[in-house]
Amino acid sequence: MFWDHAIETLDRASLRQLQLKRLQATVRRVARKVSFYREQFSQARLRPSHIGALADVRRLPFTTSADLRANYPTGLLAVGLEDTLRLHTSSGTTGKPKALFFSRQDVANAAELCARCLVMTGVTRRDVFQNMMTYGLFTGALVTHYGAEKVGCLVIPAGPGNSERQLLLMQDFRTTVFHITPSYALYFADFLEKRGINARRELALRKAFVGAEPHTEETRGKIEQALGIEVYNSYGLSEMNGPGVAFECEHKQGMHVWEDNFLVEIIDPQTGEPLPDGEMGELVMTTLRREAMPLLRYRTRDITSVNPEPCACGRTHRRLNRITGRSDDMLIVRGVNIYPQQIERVLMGTPGIGRNYVIQLEGLDEMIIKVELAEAGFDGQVEHLVRLQTKIAERLRAEILVKPQVELVPPATLPVSEGKAKRVIDNRKL
Ligand code: ADP
Ligand code: ZN
Repeated sequence: MFWDHAIETLDRASLRQLQLKRLQATVRRVARKVSFYREQFSQARLRPSHIGALADVRRLPFTTSADLRANYPTGLLAVGLEDTLRLHTSSGTTGKPKALFFSRQDVANAAELCARCLVMTGVTRRDVFQNMMTYGLFTGALVTHYGAEKVGCLVIPAGPGNSERQLLLMQDFRTTVFHITPSYALYFADFLEKRGINARRELALRKAFVGAEPHTEETRGKIEQALGIEVYNSYGLSEMNGPGVAFECEHKQGMHVWEDNFLVEIIDPQTGEPLPDGEMGELVMTTLRREAMPLLRYRTRDITSVNPEPCACGRTHRRLNRITGRSDDMLIVRGVNIYPQQIERVLMGTPGIGRNYVIQLEGLDEMIIKVELAEAGFDGQVEHLVRLQTKIAERLRAEILVKPQVELVPPATLPVSEGKAKRVIDNRKL
């Protein structure tokens, strides 16, 4: 199913032509309207006319989240404030937030992209869409809300948390699709299990769109299994409108990134040099249609690779492979580079293990992994616990080359956050 068949299946040559035209227009606009870019261009002796081919994107400067903060609040605006319609912010981790402005056209366009995403997974106007993301300054909920309304779904702006009420809404309004973070999805599955609700039999849930934080294929499997639904990976970031940047189609083999709206590059995060399709690196994106706040070569810090193979669904927009983490998520423990996703993959792939975990770093590089047991995972025999603990520690050592201390804790005892999960607690005194 397609929302906009013509653009979603546009042949590659025409798509690239469209990208070039939009890139050139974007570069011309920012050179005229945004002093930050004008200064960068003049330092690099770059003129918009130098962008004659898509490959010339490499001549443009990168934009970083530090640039967004330095130009907070309105420094990167390409329109007058009277032409902005909406403000979102991105929390980030330190200091000032990043302010992201949308014009009327930007709001409509972001909804359009989300509509494409939802329809791509088979959503129709007959679906009831329960939005369990955080509403507010965060883009996660509002942008998809508008997209689902555009498709014509009944949209329930539930927000996250309060699982009792979520369940009531699902029962009373026969929710069919929902949008949720992976950590809350796992928690919610646990909650249903404890309440003795069999989601397959008692609820009308068919699909979930899961995003906003990195998660593994094993986690997807766990959510699908527990709720009897299809789970689609949804990727976006506030700097690029929020959700709706890249989304899985019915085949669930990577996320189509809307290349008529975003020019995608993968670079080596250390050197900044571009990498070929298929290689893992940092995702860099240039907005091709954004009016209020165009961004050139924005460094997302997200680590992924591009899959250029044609997709069975017929869409020509290339796919992003699952995001394995942010380049700044990397932990260095006893000299070894570790991504939290590697740990998650092992934990979520181990039978008997529940749905929540934290990685704690203590003292001089001690790694402690606290992980919940599955609801039905413990038969009361201590030696079984010890065996499970040893198995996990061994599997982790094989994966991350460091042997952590593993602590098994009872189900639903680790803290759950409403928004993005905080998985790593670093108390090291190095
Ligand atoms: P922040 O977390 O910086 O406040 P956002 O709310 O805009 O900002 O979150 C965007 C970030 O969330 C992305 O850059 C990425 O790191 C993460 N993210 C979003 N969707 C996914 C996904 N499907 N898989 C992995 N990571 C994701
Ligand atoms: Zn596809």
